[in-house]
Amino acid sequence: VVSFPGTVVQARIDTGAITHNAATIAARVAPATLLSVVKADAYGHGLAAVVDACRAAGVADFGVATVPEALQLAALLGEDPAVRRERILCWLYDDRTDLTACARAGIELGVSTAGALRQVIRAAEASGRTVRVHLKIDTGLGRNGFTPEAFTAFLPELAEAAARTAGPVEVVGIMTHLANADVIGDPETGNQLAVLDRAREQLVSVLESAGGALGDPAALLVHAANSPAALSLDPVPGGLARVGLSTYGLSPFEGRTAAELDLRPAMSLVSRVLAVKDVPAGHGASYGLTYTCTEPTRFALVAGGYADGIPRAASNRAQVSIRGRRYPVVGRVAMDQMILDIGPGPVEIDDEVVIIGDGTTGPGAEEWAAWADTVNYEIVTRIGPRVERVVI
Ligand code: PLP
Repeated sequence: VVSFPGTVVQARIDTGAITHNAATIAARVAPATLLSVVKADAYGHGLAAVVDACRAAGVADFGVATVPEALQLAALLGEDPAVRRERILCWLYDDRTDLTACARAGIELGVSTAGALRQVIRAAEASGRTVRVHLKIDTGLGRNGFTPEAFTAFLPELAEAAARTAGPVEVVGIMTHLANADVIGDPETGNQLAVLDRAREQLVSVLESAGGALGDPAALLVHAANSPAALSLDPVPGGLARVGLSTYGLSPFEGRTAAELDLRPAMSLVSRVLAVKDVPAGHGASYGLTYTCTEPTRFALVAGGYADGIPRAASNRAQVSIRGRRYPVVGRVAMDQMILDIGPGPVEIDDEVVIIGDGTTGPGAEEWAAWADTVNYEIVTRIGPRVERVVI
């Protein structure tokens, strides 16, 4: 039973859908292991509920971007790495970030520069723990990671680090992030994977020369796949697949629906009708009066605006559902509310409004993405902190 306190906008999170999606993706990527990406508060879905739902599907590997996210995850899963069974991988920090707390909590770290490796070694020494690292290669995306040239230049320093300070760092993985995997058959994906494979070969030979002091080359995890790669490449490259978006039941492909991929959207965003009123022909709607009705009609005022993450860019384009029927959002989406032109439609105060649904119950995140000229990733991630998350 879902409680609904007045005018609050609610994000209802179907954890059964998340468990289903994680199990579907895990089967798709096997024999690679699924690492569920739960950064940005699990893409706006709420970290704790999502982690539980993924664990129910057998997921034991989790990834986040930032150090605070990793520490939050460790607080949920257990801070003692000797007891915790789940892997936590974090890949985004800068040279001012103190990684000691990560080292203590057994968080595995992406390493994108020689400076980052030194930072990790300092944290390992300060905490007296070995830190597991994944070397990150920029194979083309242009974000963080060693370029192939920088990686070649870095390898002697890595080898030296092993000789000088054996123990604090164990290289367990080599990773990259793909730029165009959502375009099925795009040659850039193959190019990026080939660059990663060359870096892997170089790394394996350094690990072999270090004789185990830097990690076991035979156990090295190679990972590149995100949602589109995990759902389209056959086989899925590497031993680990880092999957975010599709865990939440959203399709990473423009031309393929979630249902076609056997994914179930986990989030629905709902609110209420706050007021209904008759307006004469010529009445305007919202700031700037960008909409004027041509006939006498009825406006419904709905809770939910851009402070809740509803994109203002979708003004005069979006639709929402009430009692299974779609109505247009007219005029500009405001900070806390929006206006619908409901005509003769059967709408009453307090009716439930499905702002984001699964495409049938209400418009899907993909439709909102089209209305707002963005991607479904942004639609769910931008749902604001004011929105109450309710697990169903
Ligand atoms: N790996 C990295 C490094 C990422 O930044 C992300 C998210 O952007 C992912 C994996 C997951 O990508 P997706 O949500 O497409 O599965």
